[in-house]
Amino acid sequence: MGDYINVKEIFGCDVFNDSVMQDRLPKKVYRELKKTIEEGKELSMEIADVVAHEMKEWAIEKGATHYCHWFQPLTGVTAEKHDAFVTAPREDGKVLLSFSGKELIKGEPDASSFPSGGLRATFEARGYTTWDPTSYAFVKDGTLYIPTAFCSYTGEVLDKKTPLLRSMERINTEAVKILHLLGKEDVTRVTTTVGPEQEYFLIDKDAYDQREDLIYTGRTLFGAKAPKGQELDDHYFGAIKTRVAAYMKDLDEELWKLGILAKTKHNEVAPSQHELAPIFTTTNIATDHNELTMEVMKKVAERHGLVCLLHEKPFAGVNGSGKHNNWSISTNTGENLLEPGKTPENNLQFQLFLAAVVKAVHEYQDLLRITVASAGNDHRLGANEAPPAIISMYLGDDLGELVDSIINDREYVSKGKQKMRTGVDVLPDFMKDTSDRNRTSPFAFTGNKFEFRALGSSLNIACPNYMLNTMVAEELSEFYDELKDADDMDAAIKALVKKVFTEHQNIIFNGNNYAPEWVEEAERRGLLNLKSLPDAMEHFLDKKNIDLFVKNKICSADEIRARYEIELESYSKQINIEALTMIDMAKKNILPAVTSYVRDLTDTALAKKALSDAIPTSVEEDLITSLSNKLVCFSKKTAELEEAVIKASDYSDDNLKYAKYYRETVFALMQELRAVGDAMETETASEYWPYPSYGELLFGV
Ligand code: ADP
Ligand code: MG
Repeated sequence: MGDYINVKEIFGCDVFNDSVMQDRLPKKVYRELKKTIEEGKELSMEIADVVAHEMKEWAIEKGATHYCHWFQPLTGVTAEKHDAFVTAPREDGKVLLSFSGKELIKGEPDASSFPSGGLRATFEARGYTTWDPTSYAFVKDGTLYIPTAFCSYTGEVLDKKTPLLRSMERINTEAVKILHLLGKEDVTRVTTTVGPEQEYFLIDKDAYDQREDLIYTGRTLFGAKAPKGQELDDHYFGAIKTRVAAYMKDLDEELWKLGILAKTKHNEVAPSQHELAPIFTTTNIATDHNELTMEVMKKVAERHGLVCLLHEKPFAGVNGSGKHNNWSISTNTGENLLEPGKTPENNLQFQLFLAAVVKAVHEYQDLLRITVASAGNDHRLGANEAPPAIISMYLGDDLGELVDSIINDREYVSKGKQKMRTGVDVLPDFMKDTSDRNRTSPFAFTGNKFEFRALGSSLNIACPNYMLNTMVAEELSEFYDELKDADDMDAAIKALVKKVFTEHQNIIFNGNNYAPEWVEEAERRGLLNLKSLPDAMEHFLDKKNIDLFVKNKICSADEIRARYEIELESYSKQINIEALTMIDMAKKNILPAVTSYVRDLTDTALAKKALSDAIPTSVEEDLITSLSNKLVCFSKKTAELEEAVIKASDYSDDNLKYAKYYRETVFALMQELRAVGDAMETETASEYWPYPSYGELLFGV
């Protein structure tokens, strides 16, 4: 029974969670801390000292020697700085282990090397991290991790978590106001919930180590297609191979220890591709958990001689990886506000919240597109493996019919309301199945939540969720203003819902999002089609978007501008690294390999000829000719790419122009170089080719 896992015992065993707090903290301290967690009340230093002390004692029992403030800067990865609990020795030479309330609440990492988009000059290097008590501390690798938010000395927000926490407050305030208007006085808190489904690739470490493109950029920059890809659909939900199963088991165990509700695992569409989905939870915790999940996925892979790839498009020709952000809104009284119930046609509260989401997605479609834009994800959107770059909403037959009936004052007849064949007269809550068939939509209603499907696999979900929360909060606040003085509340809501659905129905599309006709139809409807990060990012600074963030106190105009600069700059840097890696691979490995193959072919042909004129050498000669021609082209394209990269500095004054240049010129040349390289790979004997093939990478585990 060596590998038997006692889930109940290990679940959350490394987390300073509610039950640990109850066990360890004096009652009064526990109650105060609970108030902070649940109501956002400020914590006194006295209480913080007690909490910190108990946290430290608990962490030391778990083997921790250090603590760290864990935060999510604008780099896209999490950051941590470790401090030991040891303090200066006393006179008798003994060290003490200490951890004060002040150290728990506030940290001061040197912020000068984190991107700030010009918000902070390097001489103002100080940055602060502040404890987020709503996300539990945990012990990992001998360190006590404290989830925190990160800002500069002068208070500018430098991370992804702060806007998220603020947006959660905003939607809470506005949703509670609306619910009180509807007579639900017992609701005191509304939170958004998220369950992110995470896709990833697992490949063999030995093969990975031989590919500098994977090492430097996370994706293959060359690589001819393997004879087999995903065309047989035999990997999707297929039986899980032993080595992968062992990995998944280990991964689940590690995640459970950290209190992460890892639930579903299965093989995905592409060979070597898999998915993990947790049970949904409060948005900021879901965000921390997803960041941790990605980290643990990589770490556990190493133990199994594997590498976990979280890049959005590691391999050309097969599906890349995304993340589905399942999002809903619920109350402290246990109600899901996006639950239509048995009779959505009479459920005005549901209709009102649905209308808020429809209006938000329509008005801020650009923000949703921006939030999923990245150099990696641009490969997927619109490539018939992920939703297109056009944002629209899928409501399904039932809700679609409901919306139509409201717009046209028609009676609503649900397609879902059928008696079940068993003869039992049950009225199903709502036909979840009828609403989940369209897998091509970027933003789909799936029974009692929305599934935002355009996210790339490596994205920090804080960003899409703070956008979503903020834009829905904004709509709710407008609704409140319109409804608050109504004499006949029902009539006012009905009129408002009808107006919103009528004005914003263009964002609803229940058809096939992969169809080329949709692109034209969307254009007719006036929907945006922002194909790449630079195209999308331009809209970030539109007045309506800045107004949204400033009015809702999520970010200042300067902070938005900073985010804009950082995203564009990091996009250009990423393509720059890819281009340099390609040039390196081309010159140092691919060109010499093909040349040496051609030389051996030539030697063979010459030797044959020397032996006798009667021996045919046409095979060698054809190959020599074909490869030599390609070599000329390959070398020329490499030189062009090199030149293009050098020329990029002409545009570096303006991040938007710089990014566009990388997209339109550098990236285009990379595609051309790759095409020639891949064609040479198909003609070159494997023993000469310097890199493991797609076949070895995708089918090697
Ligand atoms: P599918 O693969 O069909 O899209 P899954 O069952 O794999 O769906 O994943 C659905 C995800 O949605 C899970 O993470 C689940 O916990 C989450 N989810 C379910 N209900 C809610 C909700 N009310 N709010 C947020 N997420 C939810
Ligand atoms: Mg899904």
